[in-house]
Amino acid sequence: MNNQEVVLKGIPAAPGITIGPAYILDKQELIVPPRAIMKKEVNIEIARFEEALIKTKEEICSLQKRLAEDMGGQHAQIFDAHLLILEDRTLIKEVITRIRDEKQSAEYIFSSVIKKYITVFSNIEDEYLRERTSDVNDIGRRVLKNLMDETRLQELETLNEELLIVAHDLSPSETASMFNKRILGFVTDIGGRTSHTAIMAKSLGVPAVVGLKDATLRISNQDEVIVDGRMGLVILFPTQKTLEIYEGERDKILSQRHRFDDIKDLPAETQDQKKIPVLANLELPEEVPMILKRGAAGIGLYRTEYFYMNRVDLPSEEEQFEAYKSVAEKMAPYPVTIRSLDLGGDKFISSLQIPRDMYPFLGWRAIKFCLARPDIFETHLRAILRASLYGDVRLMYPMISGLDEFRKANDILEKVKNNLRDEGIPFKEDIPVGAMIEVPSAAMTADMIAGEADFFSIGTNDLIQYTLAVDRVNEQTADYYEPCHPAVLRFIKKIVEAAQQANIKVSICGEMCSEPTYALLLIGLGLNELSMSALNILQIKKLIRSVSFEDAKKLADQVLKLKSGQEVEELCRTRLQELVPNIFVSEAN
Ligand code: PEP
Ligand code: MG
Repeated sequence: MNNQEVVLKGIPAAPGITIGPAYILDKQELIVPPRAIMKKEVNIEIARFEEALIKTKEEICSLQKRLAEDMGGQHAQIFDAHLLILEDRTLIKEVITRIRDEKQSAEYIFSSVIKKYITVFSNIEDEYLRERTSDVNDIGRRVLKNLMDETRLQELETLNEELLIVAHDLSPSETASMFNKRILGFVTDIGGRTSHTAIMAKSLGVPAVVGLKDATLRISNQDEVIVDGRMGLVILFPTQKTLEIYEGERDKILSQRHRFDDIKDLPAETQDQKKIPVLANLELPEEVPMILKRGAAGIGLYRTEYFYMNRVDLPSEEEQFEAYKSVAEKMAPYPVTIRSLDLGGDKFISSLQIPRDMYPFLGWRAIKFCLARPDIFETHLRAILRASLYGDVRLMYPMISGLDEFRKANDILEKVKNNLRDEGIPFKEDIPVGAMIEVPSAAMTADMIAGEADFFSIGTNDLIQYTLAVDRVNEQTADYYEPCHPAVLRFIKKIVEAAQQANIKVSICGEMCSEPTYALLLIGLGLNELSMSALNILQIKKLIRSVSFEDAKKLADQVLKLKSGQEVEELCRTRLQELVPNIFVSEAN
């Protein structure tokens, strides 16, 4: 029997259409191939093993609690045996000793030890004990699953067919590891439009849909699937007719890919001669050639944290210096705005083994982490300062919550500068230092920070989530994530006014400015520069060249009087249609 066509609706994360065989990351059997590790990785593997035990214990305890609530305490006791196995000192010791002696990965050693336990239990004569085999098996699988989340990276590394990745979730580091792989696109059960996984998909230039809730349950390996990244649709078991329609659409999009190429070298200037440079956001240095091809007027946001991902150690000063220097040189004479390490939130770094907070976006993140770890921060700043000689390099701090934090970061910067001076190592003395404004408290006190910062960059991805109390990576709340909410617009206005008063530039580097509907409004609100995924640059440049600043300002004035995000969206869309009717006929809708 043929399956009926099914259309799943998710959240559009990266535009374009792709059709291909599915590869389910989460349903693979837990077969654990040996993976040799280096001596210096031994402690990291042991820590990973211990973390997996803790995570599994937490899972079991919460399962036990739920079961006790639903069915009574007696039923919940069935998990006591699981907990006992997790705490078994002999087992734990054996795994740790073997990781040390054999220098193999934690999951490989653990799977081998657990298999031995299963064999022993299944051969026991006592019936009661023999029945515990299934507990050992179950707990083994749970621990392995928690360990294998990390090792999926290796799985992704080895993929070399053209496949469509389907996963419950993909971490930003997993997505980053797909760079230069023949990935057709990807779909995930969870995630929001401005999650770093979605942002990374745009950098990879592959269509993606996130927040599908149960795609991994509905799709099987090798199913032919259509992904429509413009509309956020995933189509399973497409009929011949649907396939033909989408193949046509895909080809049309591909043929339009270059339709704005002719304006690549023209200035991003409105019809009444207001210049609004369009810059690129950069995650990986490998993106530079593509960014230049798309006519970017520089890098408005270099997300340096990706340099710390997918590796077992921390990058040295020299490695970082070389990377930043190379980006600065390749982009010269255009500016490169290096954002200091913004780890945490949805970006974790395996080499640091930081415990995950219950609310990661409110936890030990970005500048707070850097201020608490001057060892890591100073090395990072040294590399950035040294690279500043090789182009127009600027520095900005993420997640600044107020002037105090900005000053603290600058104190460390001063110390690093002094050290470099003492050592006779040159750097650009007057490197511009800016603050990202993406926390409501910083937006409210933007006038204070503006007095001491060289520039502002508004991070709307975070500003929206913190202003509206809506998690940016949660598909359940995606409808509440409203870039045009009056509160967000008032904040933006306030930040722009503070910057104007202090005579400093204010740019925006959140995803919001890459959408034509919002870009027009942002221009009208007085933003000096826009920085976005390279994919959207030409489209937005086209928009800027097609409108007048006066028109954009009028729209902003009108919009600020409206009382709901939806009304704002509607008005912006209508105005855009009137002013630039053909802007949307492209891959980047
Ligand atoms: C933002 O928050 O808008 C931003 C650009 O930073 P990130 O997306 O890396 O948090
Ligand atoms: Mg941010």
